Amino acid sequence: MSHRDGRSKARRGLVALGASASARPGAIWLVGAGPGDPELLTIKALKALQAAEVVVHDGLVSEEILDLAPAAARRISVAKRKSRHSYSQDEINRMLVAFAQSGLNVVRLKGGDPFMFGRGGEELEAARAAGIACHVVPGITAALAAGASAGAPLTHRSAAQAVTFVTGHAATTGGEGAGEPDLDWRSLARANQTVVIYMGLSMAAPIAARLMAAGRAGATPALIVENASRPNERRLTTSLAGLAAAAAKLSGPALLIVGEAMALARSGEGRGDDSAAIEDLLEEAQA
Ligand code: SAH
Repeated sequence: MSHRDGRSKARRGLVALGASASARPGAIWLVGAGPGDPELLTIKALKALQAAEVVVHDGLVSEEILDLAPAAARRISVAKRKSRHSYSQDEINRMLVAFAQSGLNVVRLKGGDPFMFGRGGEELEAARAAGIACHVVPGITAALAAGASAGAPLTHRSAAQAVTFVTGHAATTGGEGAGEPDLDWRSLARANQTVVIYMGLSMAAPIAARLMAAGRAGATPALIVENASRPNERRLTTSLAGLAAAAAKLSGPALLIVGEAMALARSGEGRGDDSAAIEDLLEEAQA
């Protein structure tokens, strides 16, 4: 056993005993795991994972990525579960702070980017309030992977001069899934811009209706991407008027994307062959 292994084992022991003394202060790393494909992790995210003593992750993070953490690192899933107890954001914040206070290097691993609809901001605030060092490693957010695999740019010189990321769910006191988001529909209804809706699958009908009522043409091209960058990815091309019917066919984590530039999008299934293409090129280059 290396000296380092011994140290981290000792620290885990301290946590079990509830002690808080430690040789070096712990820290919280808010790490973006990207949209799913492990090849879309950043090099920094990989390094942070390899240095993790505790990994606290949500449901969007795949096993393939979790396996990049040391086998000895403790893994805790705080995924939302329908049947069993789900951790509240407060409980997650307290857990992260407690692990760091006991001297551990904690990686809070989140799908996509930690600051994109991921509550990373709340965890950062909790760390700051407790005086814990908190580092943020950005990740590739789902929208970027969705546009890339569908072959549709989110901005385009003529067809999309702006792109807006919105949430499909309101943050109300009723909790998640509470209702329609309170968005500036008139501004989102203007032509020649892309609107990307996160967490919008179950709200596709009211969202499309709002956009059309505010003046966005029903014929505006639209794309839905489910499980972007994962082996089970699905892409459906449609129009704003057809958005709700298309959304009804999907159930996984999915993005709704509306905008003229989505005319370039290709429907289809699967992760694509770019990983294999890169391997071939590398082999060729190294030969
Ligand atoms: N922080 C994440 C988003 C978290 S909110 C990011 O930056 O990507 C969760 C929502 O993100 C899901 O409801 C879905 O709309 C979207 N999402 C996350 N991963 C996705 C994926 N691989 N494919 C499609 N949508 C995804």
